Amino acid sequence: MVVVEHRDYNLDLDTGRIVGYAGRDVPDDDLLRTCVHCGMCLPSCPTYRLTGQEASSPRGRLWLMRAVADGRLELLDPIFDEQMYQCLNCRACEAVCPSGVHYGPLVEASRAQLEQHRPRPGRERLLRGVAMGWLFGEPKRLRTLVAGLRFYQRSGLAALVRRSGLLKLTGTAELEAMMPPVSKRSLVPGRERWLPKRAERTARLFNGCVMGTVFADTNRAAARAMGHNGTAVDVPVGQRCCGALHVHAGMMEEARTLARRNVDAFEPSGHDPVVVTAAGCGAALKEYGFLLKDDLAYADRAARFSARVRDVTEYLGDLGLRPPSHEVNATVTYQEPCHLAHAQRITSQPRALLKAIPGLKLFEMRESALCCGSAGIYNLIRREMAEQLGDRKARHVMETPATTVVTANPGCAMQLRASLGRNGGTAQVRHIVEVLDEAYGGERATRRQGWTPEGERRLSPEPS
Ligand code: SF4
Ligand code: SF4
Repeated sequence: MVVVEHRDYNLDLDTGRIVGYAGRDVPDDDLLRTCVHCGMCLPSCPTYRLTGQEASSPRGRLWLMRAVADGRLELLDPIFDEQMYQCLNCRACEAVCPSGVHYGPLVEASRAQLEQHRPRPGRERLLRGVAMGWLFGEPKRLRTLVAGLRFYQRSGLAALVRRSGLLKLTGTAELEAMMPPVSKRSLVPGRERWLPKRAERTARLFNGCVMGTVFADTNRAAARAMGHNGTAVDVPVGQRCCGALHVHAGMMEEARTLARRNVDAFEPSGHDPVVVTAAGCGAALKEYGFLLKDDLAYADRAARFSARVRDVTEYLGDLGLRPPSHEVNATVTYQEPCHLAHAQRITSQPRALLKAIPGLKLFEMRESALCCGSAGIYNLIRREMAEQLGDRKARHVMETPATTVVTANPGCAMQLRASLGRNGGTAQVRHIVEVLDEAYGGERATRRQGWTPEGERRLSPEPS
């Protein structure tokens, strides 16, 4: 075999095939070789549980990655492509692996390799460029789009469109069913802060793209809950989307650009914790050190930034919650977001927070940490498997007496909403901080206690 090594690819002159990995974001060979093929991860893997096929298991996928690295399988082999994208990147395998295989970065690098070497049809390239690059690259654009969505939901247009059958015709009915009621206004960094009377410390809120727009009221609830626990909350200007969706889609350069902007935005706030309300964002932010490890100007700064990141349940749980003042008479079950339970290994704090709420009854569901099928944009690109997982999750929720299902990630919330609706489930879906905020008396309590009013204008806010 005669192989020509090029900067971007290795070419086998005999067969004309691309051999091995090349270019940027090559799956780390040492990481790949830590798998000892024991198979202990198989029962935790959602795709293996649905298909029963070795290729759809973590061990099978690691074997495929290794086969490409060793030149036994072509990078562009359809089986490799299919398996790298059939994986949910839920990282359940990582949490149970006795060898410590760091699976997430391996599948992400494999996808990045596919995106570098496999041409996508023009329409797909355009769609990815517009949605992931243009829209998520600039918060103002997303806020404008969400303002349109808000108008659609609140003006009565939604009911009209649903009745017209247009959603079924355009194949967007499922997407629409997932959409929660959009918050009354987006949270614009620099425009709002929360300053309780006796603040002992300050935290910086990571606003996020979907959380800062569609779920902006959830971010506000998180800030109030932190305030009741002696923390002033600020939302630094200049921050961007975390880039998790981009990493999952193999768009590493776009993710790095966003990561650098976030490091810049949070650096002036020194060592203050960066608190996140979306598990997927938190996992991505905690890995900026790895994402920017080859960038001489940012590697150390990114690692320092990552060390400051805390999920809101981790932050409040570790702080030791001050007793909430109000009873919340609700029966609740907790759906664990994969990127909280597996990628960040945060499992006890959310439960402890729920148990600390007076009046609330917590019922565990079966397989609470099995992926619900949301997984970034998985429920859009692998709809059939995502629906099977969503239906399974809905059944598990409905087996409990819970009337509320609590989670900590916007993707899970939307997927649960759609899955419960499809299966006749009536449980309400809420973020854990919304329940906590209610237990502290909600927005009214902050006014009664004389906090700095929300909506306070700063000298140089971001334009809306
Ligand atoms: S990934 Fe870990 S648990 Fe799974 S087969 Fe390899 S060594 Fe075993
Ligand atoms: S990340 Fe999730 S879906 Fe992918 S191999 Fe691991 S357990 Fe399976």
